Amino acid sequence: MSQPVYHRVVVKISGEYLAGDQSFGIHQPTIDRVATDLIEAQHRGVEVAVVVGGGNIFRGVEVSSRGVSRPTGDTMGMLATVMNCLALEAAIERRGVSARTLSSMVMPQVCELFTRATAHRYLSERRIVLLGGGTGNPYFTTDTTAVLRAAEIGAQAVLKATNVDGVYSADPKKDPTARRFDRLTHSQALEGGYKVMDATAFALARDTSLPIIVFSIAEPGSVGAILSGGGRGTIVAG
Ligand code: UDP
Repeated sequence: MSQPVYHRVVVKISGEYLAGDQSFGIHQPTIDRVATDLIEAQHRGVEVAVVVGGGNIFRGVEVSSRGVSRPTGDTMGMLATVMNCLALEAAIERRGVSARTLSSMVMPQVCELFTRATAHRYLSERRIVLLGGGTGNPYFTTDTTAVLRAAEIGAQAVLKATNVDGVYSADPKKDPTARRFDRLTHSQALEGGYKVMDATAFALARDTSLPIIVFSIAEPGSVGAILSGGGRGTIVAG
């Protein structure tokens, strides 16, 4: 096993991925597999924080046309991310590894509030830290949260787990001529308008000089492979 190239990372897992082949909710075998991958990455000596999305349960924008205001809908979406964190925390702990959920919103009966100090402490205690509640603000996404938290806690990279093995010029599932990029600058990613991450996330990564690695988590062990500088993905940096 080659040495990891990063000391601390933020892994972004979309809620949609956690639904597996279902259209809604949590697919337990998928969450168990993700837990195993994260543990394997941590066993390589890397401090692992995870930002979890909520799209498998709720997206604020979907209800804003149905009489629920966008900020309220987004709050519902942020609550969904906490539910996913709790499911992932349980799956990690069932495997004998300590995990802690930290939320951007105050919910003392559920989990601790995210602060940089708490995240630092748990990561240095070799716990996997799950970051729920997005940024705590409406109109943002968990992709932006991943970059924000990575910058705050001094992570060296954001690992954006997707269903495809990198950034493409178009959706490779719909367009056979779609081109895959090995490497892009943040500005190229922004100018290209590639759908893999939102513009706010790319812009913040550019401002904070944070590399983003877009990779497919479909293959077991892919997080570890990326951490060792191998694996297949697109590096957005520089
Ligand atoms: N959300 C939000 N602010 C944030 C992060 C998320 O309002 O900082 C809400 C928003 O409604 C979003 C939902 O939470 O649709 C779920 O997050 P996201 O869509 O990023 O999840 P993913 O696509 O990764 O499953």
